[in-house]
Amino acid sequence: MRLCQIRGRFKKKLNKGQVDVIQRILSVAICMLFFCVSGIAEARTTRVSDVRFGLEGDETRVVIDSDSPVDYRFFVLPNGTPRIVVEMARVRWSINGLTSEAGNGDGDGLVAHYRYEHNSPTTSRLILDLSAPAKVLGSYAMKPNHERSSHRIILDLRQVNEAEFRATPTPVPDAELVMISQSDSLIRSAKRKPVIVIDAGHGGKDPGAIGVKGTFEKDVTLASALALRDALLRTGRYEVSMTRADDTFIELEDRVDRAREFHADLFISLHADAGSKPHTRGASVYTLSPSGEKRSQALRKSHDWVLDVERDTARSTEVNDILVSLIERETKNQSARFANMLIPEIERADWPTLDNTHRNAGFFVLLAPDVPAVLVEMGFLTNAKDEALLTSPRHRKHIIQAIVRATDSFFEDKELYVAQR
Ligand SMILES: [Zn+2]
Repeated sequence: MRLCQIRGRFKKKLNKGQVDVIQRILSVAICMLFFCVSGIAEARTTRVSDVRFGLEGDETRVVIDSDSPVDYRFFVLPNGTPRIVVEMARVRWSINGLTSEAGNGDGDGLVAHYRYEHNSPTTSRLILDLSAPAKVLGSYAMKPNHERSSHRIILDLRQVNEAEFRATPTPVPDAELVMISQSDSLIRSAKRKPVIVIDAGHGGKDPGAIGVKGTFEKDVTLASALALRDALLRTGRYEVSMTRADDTFIELEDRVDRAREFHADLFISLHADAGSKPHTRGASVYTLSPSGEKRSQALRKSHDWVLDVERDTARSTEVNDILVSLIERETKNQSARFANMLIPEIERADWPTLDNTHRNAGFFVLLAPDVPAVLVEMGFLTNAKDEALLTSPRHRKHIIQAIVRATDSFFEDKELYVAQR
C-alpha cells in the first residue's frame, strides 16, 4: 500500500522519462519485496520439494518434484565447468523440507553437484554442475497420477564429447546485451568488462598469521593475489585491480574504498587462517553476516559512502531508502551466489576445505554495501600440510584456478540473466 502511495506521489513531480525509469526499478523492488518478504505471496508460489538423480545405463535422470506445474526451460553453459541450467518461473525452494532462498547438494552420475537460487524476481534456477560434458536427450513434465502426488520435471542426460558439448547453442546473444551493474544499478552495456578487485590480506607492518615454519600470511596472500590477477587477466574477460601489489600496509577502509572507487563488480579478499589446533586445515569462504549487514549500514552513513542511486536528489527519501535496501539485498545475494559457486570449484580442485565451508562474518572488507564480496581463507598456516600447499606456487595454482573458474561461472550466469529480461 505504502509503495503505491509513494509511486502515486512520484508521478506528479517528475517528467515521463524519469517516471518510466523509476517505475521500472520500483516494480523490481516491489516484486522483490512481495516475493521475498511476504509469506502470503510465497504460499501461492509453486513449491519445489525435491531434486533427485537416478542412473539408467549410461544415462543420468534428473527429477524435480513440485506441488504444481511450473514453466521451465533449460540450456547449457559450456565455459568453465560444464553446466546445465534449468530455469523456472519463480518457485519456492523447499528441498528436503528445508525452505531457503538458495542452497546446494550432491548429484549423482553425470551431475557432480547442484545449486538452486532465485536469479530474478520472476525466475528461479537449478544449476547442474556436470562431472563430464553431457547433453539433454529429452525432457518432460509429468502430472501427478495414482502413484504419486507431485508434479515432475524430468531431464535425461547422456555424456557427449567436449566438441559436441561446446557446439550446443547457448542463449546468450552476442550483441546488445545489457547488464545491470552492481555498482550503480543503472543499465550499462555488457561491452564493459567486469571489474574485479583482488585484496591481498595484511601487508607491511601487519604480517597476519604466522605459519608452523614461520611463513607470514601477508606473503602468501600477496603471492596468491598476484597469481590470481595474472590468471584472471589471461582470460581476457576482466579488468583487475588490486588493493596492494607489494608489501605495504593498507588500512581496511582504504581497501573497501578502492573497491567502490573502481566500481568493482566483485571483490575477492585472500587470507590464510590460523587456529589453535595444529590439525585444523582447509579453505573456507566468508560472506557478510547479518550483524555485518547492520555494520555496513552504519558505515555507509559514517563513511559517507554515497551509493549512486542516492545521488539523484529529485527522488524522495522514501524511494531512495527502498532503492538502497534493494541494492544491499542484491549485493548480499550476489556475494552468496559467488560463494556457492566457489566452494564446489575448490572441492573439485582437490583442495582441502573446512566443514561448513561457507561462513558468515562481519569482516570489514566485506562491508561495501554495493560490491559483492567474499573473503577466502585459503587454508591454515598453523597446519603443516596447508602451509606447504600455500607456499608452493605449483600447488597454490589449484585454488587460484578454482577461483578463476568460479568467477567465469559467476559472470556468465549474470550476463545470461540480464540477457533474458
Ligand atoms: Zn588474514
